[in-house]
Amino acid sequence: MKTVTIIGGGLAGLTLGLGLRQKKIPVTLWEAGRYPRHRVCGEFISGRGLDSLARLGLRPLIENAGAVRATHAAFFSSVNGTTPRALPEPALCLSRHVLDDLLAQEFRRLGGVLREGERSPEKDFSEGTVRATGRRAQPTENGARWFGLKAHARNVTLTADLEMHVAPNGYVGLCRVNGGAVNVCGLFRRLPPASGEVNGSFSHFAKCENTSDWRRIFCGSAGSPVHRRLAAAEFDEASFCAVAGLSLQPHRAAERAECCVGDAVTMIPPVTGNGMSMAFESAELAMEPLSAWSRGELSWKNAQQTIANHCDAAFAQRLAWARRLQTLVLSPSLQRPLVFLAGRSGFFWRWWFARTR
Ligand SMILES: Cc1cc2nc3c(=O)[nH]c(=O)nc-3n(C[C@H](O)[C@H](O)[C@H](O)COP(=O)(O)OP(=O)(O)OC[C@H]3O[C@@H](n4cnc5c(N)ncnc54)[C@H](O)[C@@H]3O)c2cc1C
Repeated sequence: MKTVTIIGGGLAGLTLGLGLRQKKIPVTLWEAGRYPRHRVCGEFISGRGLDSLARLGLRPLIENAGAVRATHAAFFSSVNGTTPRALPEPALCLSRHVLDDLLAQEFRRLGGVLREGERSPEKDFSEGTVRATGRRAQPTENGARWFGLKAHARNVTLTADLEMHVAPNGYVGLCRVNGGAVNVCGLFRRLPPASGEVNGSFSHFAKCENTSDWRRIFCGSAGSPVHRRLAAAEFDEASFCAVAGLSLQPHRAAERAECCVGDAVTMIPPVTGNGMSMAFESAELAMEPLSAWSRGELSWKNAQQTIANHCDAAFAQRLAWARRLQTLVLSPSLQRPLVFLAGRSGFFWRWWFARTR
């Protein structure tokens, strides 16, 4: 059997590696970083990816690692909020610090070769190599720059398992994760700085050199619900991480030159809380064609095309709705009516929930 090489040991790469090892396919996985490590992520797993995890037998592993079952969510603008609403389906919340490490250990246990702390030469995506390198960095999108921040905190009392707080230029999600911590994670949009601006410039925010910078960004404007929620928060500084250069434009897998899974195909707007799910799902969709290639039953070109077609069929609609949702959520004039509607109409937000996962 031929060896499958996976570049990138995030959720997509590790899940794919694990699934292939379950089928006894030889796999070498390159990961530039080391486990365990924090990642910018809302740490809220929902949607069909949970079924993928169950089919791969990974769900008990995640539940036993202390994943918190989330059953209710509440939504807030910078002035008002909703009472907790039952999620159409429960979600699981687990720190990426724990989750990625868990999957890496399981991959090794199944005999996968993990080249941890080694960056593969990024251009080498020849036959047999799968790209699972995560998001493709893009400095600006329509003139705006996106960046994400995350940190774990204690002493934060939530009204629901997940709270979503929207503000004029971004949103912050708060959810309970393993070990009694609350994950604080936000996506922010920064317009190009006016000439001469220094302190308010994007690079200043993206660097976030001290804790007061990112605390200020998370807390938003004084008097807002998120500001009150985080007033007494004790942040775990070791958990703080940031990511910049995000691209939220949907892409089709078929337009990619390489065989890709996860965010390397396309990134879904984080407001949906569905990126991890897509990482698990795309990994599962890639397993059978890659196994067939490894056994010599399918050409690489056909395997790559089959994976791309499966991913596009599974994700195209979801990505289109997610894009619309992201635009609505970030329209300052619509944020209050949206939160109002989410509070009044269970149908309204269950409809969006279903369309984006
Ligand atoms: C602000 C924010 C909030 C989010 N919140 C949620 C949420 O609540 N729920 C949800 O489901 N999703 C959420 N997501 C999305 C989710 O984090 C991603 O969709 C998911 O991590 C994608 O997994 P991946 O494996 O494709 O990429 P990643 O997890 O990014 O992994 C890619 C890996 O590839 C490695 N790598 C890159 N290049 C190389 C190389 N050349 N050689 C070796 N290794 C390399 C990197 O080190 C990295 O470990 C959020 C994202 C953001 C930005």
